[in-house]
Amino acid sequence: PETPTVAPGGTPTHCPYCALQCGMAVGGSPVRVTPREDVPANRGGLCQKGWTAAELLTVPDRLTTPLMRAHLGAPLEPCTWEEALDRIAGEVARLQERHGRDAIGVFGGGGLTNEKAYQLGKFARIALRTSQIDYNGRFCMSSAAAALNRAFGLDRGLPGPITDLARADAIMLVGGNVAETMPPFMRHLTEMRERGGALVVIDPRRTATAKQADLHLQPAPGTDLALANGMLHLAIAEGLVDEDFVAARTGGFEAVRISVNAYWPDRVERITGVPVPQMREAVRLLGRGNRSLILTARGAEQHARGTDTVTAFINLALALGLPGREGGGYGCLTGQGNGQGGREHGQKADQLPGYRKIDDPAAREHVAAVWGVDPEIIPGPGRSAFELLDALGADDGPKALLLFGSNPVVSAPRSGLIEERINALEFLAVSDFVLSETARRADVVLPTAQWAEESGTMTNLEGRVLRRRRAVAAPDGVRTDLEILAGLADRLAAPGTWSTEPAEVFDELRAASAGGPADYAGITYERIESEGGVFWPCPSEDHPGTPRPFAERFHTPDGRARFTPVDHTGPAEGVDAAYPVHLITGRVLAHYQSGAQTRRIAPLVDASPEPFVEIHPDLAARSGVAEGEMVRVTSRRGTVTVRARLVDTIRHDTVFIPFHWAEEGRANLLTNTALDPMSRMPEFKVCAVRLEPHEEN
Ligand code: SF4
Repeated sequence: PETPTVAPGGTPTHCPYCALQCGMAVGGSPVRVTPREDVPANRGGLCQKGWTAAELLTVPDRLTTPLMRAHLGAPLEPCTWEEALDRIAGEVARLQERHGRDAIGVFGGGGLTNEKAYQLGKFARIALRTSQIDYNGRFCMSSAAAALNRAFGLDRGLPGPITDLARADAIMLVGGNVAETMPPFMRHLTEMRERGGALVVIDPRRTATAKQADLHLQPAPGTDLALANGMLHLAIAEGLVDEDFVAARTGGFEAVRISVNAYWPDRVERITGVPVPQMREAVRLLGRGNRSLILTARGAEQHARGTDTVTAFINLALALGLPGREGGGYGCLTGQGNGQGGREHGQKADQLPGYRKIDDPAAREHVAAVWGVDPEIIPGPGRSAFELLDALGADDGPKALLLFGSNPVVSAPRSGLIEERINALEFLAVSDFVLSETARRADVVLPTAQWAEESGTMTNLEGRVLRRRRAVAAPDGVRTDLEILAGLADRLAAPGTWSTEPAEVFDELRAASAGGPADYAGITYERIESEGGVFWPCPSEDHPGTPRPFAERFHTPDGRARFTPVDHTGPAEGVDAAYPVHLITGRVLAHYQSGAQTRRIAPLVDASPEPFVEIHPDLAARSGVAEGEMVRVTSRRGTVTVRARLVDTIRHDTVFIPFHWAEEGRANLLTNTALDPMSRMPEFKVCAVRLEPHEEN
């Protein structure tokens, strides 16, 4: 495609990638990005992905015309928009007539703007009238969301503005490698340390982040819950519990106090491998002031006991009296660009806009009134993301899938199985701006506009609603997702209105969210513009927004935070003689999520060209593997072949593979599908594997 037309001047907007949503200006010819100083999250910093974000707009294989397969086995060929949308509407009608409304599944993404996430949820519920909608954010932070709701009655990522971090006495980061995943975030941690605060990192690898920590705990994968309980045991023993706070602002501590009695330090050391003195030091660092912060990320959350693991850390934070203080508390580091907003406006199987429960009659009445429909037509809860993907093509599962902003063939757990499920569909339509690994399998591919080519809002990891602004014109032939949904709603004779203007959709979202936990009613584009973003909840236009939602009270019926006792059970799949090594997965500096975007950017590919497996030299020697050789890594679900990288920064019993690559290096071919009972999060972060040198070395 031709170089996009440049809007006059640099347009202030935000990065297309992660939840930090770094501020950048986009403009010039050729188009380039420059970091913004006025955005607190990055204050003039960008990572390598952000610096090269303009190249996404001109990737050589950008889709600019719809593609369609005439029949099963036929190649994807260019077609008109009318043909593509007519085909989708025709397949929807055919399959729903034969199999019922739930024959159509919808799968969304945590990178979609709030407007698109909202419209997609509405489209599923009242245009398709299917219950079968969920999104890839279920794979991201759903365990933390469930734990936040359980303890605080509200799921908001950070407990305050990002600038609070610098005022913390200590920050303990559990299962997050921010030095690589969101490097500008490190500035806040560095500032905190320069002011005398301490950084504690919990990670099975001595990551780039752990190397900058004052203390690094390196537990065995899948043992974070035991570690948190052991730390609480020590906090009680050392007299660090803030009894006044516990009495005034919480409930349920006695049951937790009793349950962590069993987590004797020696026992916890045996479970986790973390020496008792390190645990004790971590507790003392956290307990030395009441402005300490515990942050979890995917390493702690993507487990079959993810909700309980996060709960264990929240219990620790509550016992130390941290939540509700400026700079202190518990927070979740959301990963995807709109990971926070994407989960608030109706893409989730069990939710309506405003973070309302779909089975709550009052919520259904409210949202139905905004949509102009009878509440009776809104379906009930559907399947969670993995369960939805796993049911594709089954007798009682969806026969067709409409997919927006996601690439599950690479990013879903046990992705070989998910590939089979997708191949078993009668019909697949994908909206994307490149032919991702999932789009390649579609019957219809819709070329969509991307980040700097359209307007909308994103809610970053602080809970601050931001404006994404259109900076360049989309190439000819491309449509926005709002235009796609409006075109389909029209063909399906859907009730309600289907604006293609983001500002109008946002106004409708505000009305739909009004009164819900994630209340956007008072947030307007003008306010975001003039105030540099607005924190939700914000129930009215004269409300200032809520930077620190737990300062006065928690959002539970009695205003108190809730302790919940939780017990360690270990990973769903432990190591054994056949599969003797733990596998953990994660991200690298140069790539983002499934890599569908960053694997197309030359400087990022140069920086990180291929997948690899990190192995401790001792384990490599035992496995007959040498540095740089190809290794076969096999789990009960599949095999990948990747290059060995020998490092002494990882535990002897654990290997690490980043999950950004497809084909032979697709880490998620190996991962486990055991689900957390509360959040339905799969256990991405630990499974059992064996290593063998590749025959062709
Ligand atoms: Fe973009 Fe995240 Fe990098 Fe910031 S840290 S530039 S938001 S990818």
